[in-house]
Amino acid sequence: MRRILVVEDERDIAELIALHLSDLPADVTVASDGPHGLQLALREAWEAVVLDLRLPGLNGLDLCRELRAQAAHVPILMLTARSSELDRVLGLELGADDYLTKPFSVLELVARVKALLRRSALTAARAAEAAEDKPSVIEHGALRTDRIQRRAWLDGSEVPLTPREFDLLWHFVQHPGRVFTRSELLADVWGHGHDGYDHTVNSHINRLRTKLGDERAEAAFIHTVWGVGYRFEVAA
Ligand code: CA
Repeated sequence: MRRILVVEDERDIAELIALHLSDLPADVTVASDGPHGLQLALREAWEAVVLDLRLPGLNGLDLCRELRAQAAHVPILMLTARSSELDRVLGLELGADDYLTKPFSVLELVARVKALLRRSALTAARAAEAAEDKPSVIEHGALRTDRIQRRAWLDGSEVPLTPREFDLLWHFVQHPGRVFTRSELLADVWGHGHDGYDHTVNSHINRLRTKLGDERAEAAFIHTVWGVGYRFEVAA
């Protein structure tokens, strides 16, 4: 049985979420404050975490940050009260995998969690596949990317990447010269079962480019293909 952790202090909402997620089916555990949520998240294995932003004791942002620092690639769906909070969450780039603004439809929440679960299964399958026959280090010019360590270096200096930025970069370096549309990147890297998140791709690409120094002059690695998407190619 898949195990899902819900960290939400509003009892009615928590119960509603738990009820619907149980139908997936899944084994759902509810934590009603931040510290307890973090403790459970770290101590046990979960296929997904639904995390409210406003929590007593430790807020969802700090909990997410701590969880990502200590563990794991567990998929996280963050719940925020207002779109302004969502902007902040996106700006901080804490490594949540998806976001919903309250009030949300519980069916939408279930659909998002399903997409996260699919992605997590896909990631596991891909990791197994990759471990068999794909190289663990790929070098393009001055850029070295290591799948096992999940780190990248440019001219020998480490490029600090969030988990998602790394996934995006790894996807690109495996397919030099190939053009990806935003939808393809969403499906391949985010694994969403839904669309409408092009701005997510754009903002991640922009941050990745900045980190790779692509903004200073002509793009050295990630090139925009007008009206189509993006292509990874090492400039001569
Ligand atoms: Ca709350």
